[in-house]
Amino acid sequence: MTTTDYEAVPAVERDDPALHVGTVVMKFGGSSVADPEKLKTVARRLVAAREGGSRVVAVLSAMGSTTDELLDLAHQVSERPSPRELDMLISVGERISCALAAMAIHDLGHEAISLTGSQAGIVTDTVHGKAKIVDVRARRINEALDAGRIVLVAGFQGVSAVSFDVTTLGRGGSDTTAVALAAALGALVCEIYTDVDGVYTADPRLVPNARRLALLSYEEMLEMASSGARVMATRSIEVARSHNVRLHVRPTFGEAEGTWIREEDETMLEKALISGVVHQREETVYRVEGVTPARLFGALAEASINVDTIVQTSAEIVFSAPVEDRADAKRALDLLGVSWTAREDLGKVSLVGAGMKSHPGVAAKTFATLEAAGIDAPIVSTSPIKIACHVPSADVDRAVQALHEAFELG
Ligand code: ADP
Ligand code: ASP
Ligand code: MG
Repeated sequence: MTTTDYEAVPAVERDDPALHVGTVVMKFGGSSVADPEKLKTVARRLVAAREGGSRVVAVLSAMGSTTDELLDLAHQVSERPSPRELDMLISVGERISCALAAMAIHDLGHEAISLTGSQAGIVTDTVHGKAKIVDVRARRINEALDAGRIVLVAGFQGVSAVSFDVTTLGRGGSDTTAVALAAALGALVCEIYTDVDGVYTADPRLVPNARRLALLSYEEMLEMASSGARVMATRSIEVARSHNVRLHVRPTFGEAEGTWIREEDETMLEKALISGVVHQREETVYRVEGVTPARLFGALAEASINVDTIVQTSAEIVFSAPVEDRADAKRALDLLGVSWTAREDLGKVSLVGAGMKSHPGVAAKTFATLEAAGIDAPIVSTSPIKIACHVPSADVDRAVQALHEAFELG
């Protein structure tokens, strides 16, 4: 057991009936709080939940594209901004949303308090930009809830118990804040409010006839998230799974039923063959020679690179990693002194589905579909419930649409 892994350090006994009944954690993403009017709508939703009798904790993201703008500012003043200062900077966005929402709630006649991640007791390790939550010290939140207040927690951030510095959790990290809080507070559900009606069989922006999925298991959502379905951050699903927090992905503006994500059980036995087609437009693919896998992946882990696909042949090792990790990965490879090349013209299309385990022929149909569409897939990798194909970035959209159609997901 490591002490830096929140999943391995349960903050609470989740089965304890004395846990606060009626606590709800509601997370609102960046587009849901993009302007003052939307913030006021969110405030009204929080007040309605409070008036319904719940103890309400809201986790907010930064308004609209604030995080991107702050990152852009940093890169205008420095080629390689200090990771510590970058976290100081980008953690500000979520603070703005929370303070503004608290003001709007006050005007609706309710008590509310905004808290930074640090004030809310979100304790992390010290990996700037990719910190992991190691503990949630929820005393201050509980006191505010006991006093009848709506508590607004700035998402995506925490504080290192070692350096006392502000940290951030990685892009989309407000989802992880929300789920960790739901676990620590004993909330039965963590509600993820976003700009789509739930989790779909493909990104609804790319495939207009994509279908909303009513129910997914943690495993399926984990594969979808880690393969690029932006709708939930991968890490948040890992925390939800290990603390058995049920997730409900729902629209901020609208009343659609949304998508439930929970542990697989017998009611899910009749699994659809494929749950969805997920894509990532860019992913860097590295080819490395002259190093053992242990040394290579040890160095990459040390640099906190999230390695995805790995293919090893007798002559070389091929692996992929997110575009955001490019600078760190290149530095780690240079430090190793090995010979390497990187391809930056590939993206990835993945088919995910628990039903795949017991149905042969998914791979055959996938390759036939790509071939018929004239799309080359130079690297293919699989898990029991996923087939992932690296294809040229320019062909990603077409590949998603062709596979969605071929597997009749619409
Ligand atoms: P938020 O700001 O609420 O955190 P995100 O932008 O992180 O929202 O995630 C929501 C977006 O995820 C949607 O607008 C949609 O375009 C995208 N998305 C990608 N794949 C899927 C999918 N399979 N189902 C639903 N949304 C998806
Ligand atoms: N604002 C952060 C981001 O844009 C975190 C989040 O929205 O979850 O990645
Ligand atoms: Mg998000």
